[in-house]
Amino acid sequence: MSLAHGHPYLAIPGPSVMPERVLRAMHRGSPNIYEGPLVEMVAGLWPDLRAVAGTTAHVAAYIGNGHAGWEAANANLFSRGERALVLATGQFGLSWANHARQMGIEVEVLDFGRAAPADPGRLETALRADREGRIKAVLTTHVDTATTVRNDIPALRAAMDAAGHPALLAVDCIASLACDEYRMDDWGADVTVAASQKGLMTPPGLAFVWFSEAARLRCGEGDLATPYWRWGPRAEPAEFWQYWDGTAPTHHLYGLREALTMLVHEEGLAQAWARHEALARVVWAAFEAWGTGNPAIAMNVPRPEWRGRSVTAARLGAPDAARLRAWCERHAGVTLGIGLGAATPEDPKAEGALRVAHMGHVNAHMTLGVLAVMEAGLKALGIAHGDGALEAAAQVVADRA
Ligand SMILES: *Cc1c(COP(=O)(O)O)cnc(C)c1O
Repeated sequence: MSLAHGHPYLAIPGPSVMPERVLRAMHRGSPNIYEGPLVEMVAGLWPDLRAVAGTTAHVAAYIGNGHAGWEAANANLFSRGERALVLATGQFGLSWANHARQMGIEVEVLDFGRAAPADPGRLETALRADREGRIKAVLTTHVDTATTVRNDIPALRAAMDAAGHPALLAVDCIASLACDEYRMDDWGADVTVAASQKGLMTPPGLAFVWFSEAARLRCGEGDLATPYWRWGPRAEPAEFWQYWDGTAPTHHLYGLREALTMLVHEEGLAQAWARHEALARVVWAAFEAWGTGNPAIAMNVPRPEWRGRSVTAARLGAPDAARLRAWCERHAGVTLGIGLGAATPEDPKAEGALRVAHMGHVNAHMTLGVLAVMEAGLKALGIAHGDGALEAAAQVVADRA
């Protein structure tokens, strides 16, 4: 029988779970976009957006998703033919590289595989080898959502400084912002990219690019900075419409206002990071226990300090991950994430990989609920697994309470 009727839980890494308050804030008629409450409200968004990224820098917002954020960063950082050094730790780093290449940017990729963070030593070596200073910017993900590898941004910055190379550092925080600790200014990032539908708990449709004064001065207006993507006018608009280069994303802005109020002014950013950290450890404890009874079950990233706090990628052996995902959705109303970029010649459809998101408006009861449903699925499907996963998960919650 199906026990799926009731509140469904979309445990995929974006779009994340949204608060009812965000949805209610969006439920209204069209506002005036020329003057009045919307225009006044939006002015107050920018300080909170800066706070979320840990910066006093500029922020430009776009109607678009994370890919639009990449394109905005690329368009402003580079001119055609200039060089990017991309640090890839999964599908999203490779996709950002691919986007840049298609825009006419020369791209060099350092690929660190799927289970370990970018090695600062290799970055330093690559920058030292660039004697003519052709590399204009280093592009990296903070957390790559496909592998759930988390990069050590301060260590990468330190490697760039050690090499004495002038390249700018641009960081994709789409999966991690408001989930994993991130401090743009303290960590020396020049550009940060994010989108609304993950840690920011708002529907997909807004992209953000924070950029330092150094980045603004160094980048000027290259031949890729086309009218819609050019960041300058959006960061310091003379008129309201210039924030968006046209009609404002009215309802998203009301939703974002509510989400930022919850994150920055009510829960507090440090507490939101701590919540994601704790919930990640709850999930990890369960996977560790399951793995003791079946060597095919393992998290993708072996070392906890290398893992993102908003999503966990794991293997169960093909096709058991696909079977478990289908079971959880059909019988219990929980949708787990697919194994993105995890296909291999032996497992071409990545049926041995899945991801559990613990991102956005999630708490202990939701996370324990997902794990209990997964445990039920493992039993129902006869997939071997170690005992004690739920006890271990509950213990992590108890220890943090
Ligand atoms: C989700 C995600 C993207 C892509 O965002 P879209 O909104 O799907 O375009 C890029 N990078 C990372 C790290 C992501 O998690």
